[in-house]
Amino acid sequence: MECPSCGAAKTSTLETRRADDGAAVRRRRRCPDCDHRFTTFERREPDPLYVIKRGDRRQRFDPEKLRAGLTRAAHKRPVRAAEIEAIVGRIERAVVEAGGELDSERIGEICLEQLRELDGGAYLQYAGTLSPPGSGIPQGAGLVLADPENPRNHRTSGPTLSVRKEEHAASPTTETD
Ligand SMILES: [Zn+2]
Repeated sequence: MECPSCGAAKTSTLETRRADDGAAVRRRRRCPDCDHRFTTFERREPDPLYVIKRGDRRQRFDPEKLRAGLTRAAHKRPVRAAEIEAIVGRIERAVVEAGGELDSERIGEICLEQLRELDGGAYLQYAGTLSPPGSGIPQGAGLVLADPENPRNHRTSGPTLSVRKEEHAASPTTETD
């Protein structure tokens, strides 16, 4: 690598270290001409990730869109931003592990599984946004329900949503494991 100070074509490495838990390599470098020292990071260029939608349409995986959908589902629910971030990270890993492309239906399923563990109301609100069923991409408004079986719905602190029992009784999606 060339020296950022004097422009010499070659610099030497003084020290190489793991960074970001092994996701990157950090090198301390030195210019033999002017003795300038600097640091570089080496990272893998991430491969583009894709979502396979109905009709085999491929679309770039968009974490921002997923985050927005999950945030909408968690509206007025006791779900923290960090928990939504963890779901987005998990989906991203699932797409990588699947070889860089994953069905939108599977993505929707994982979101539902994760939300169900976190909060029944957010789970139901997300389920209500899957349109058409199983598309995996949240669209439009969801249901306004809370799952009374989920202990998080009995928390007294924080913003919560009222349980509308008559809708709950009519919903086939409220059973828990
Ligand atoms: Zn130099």
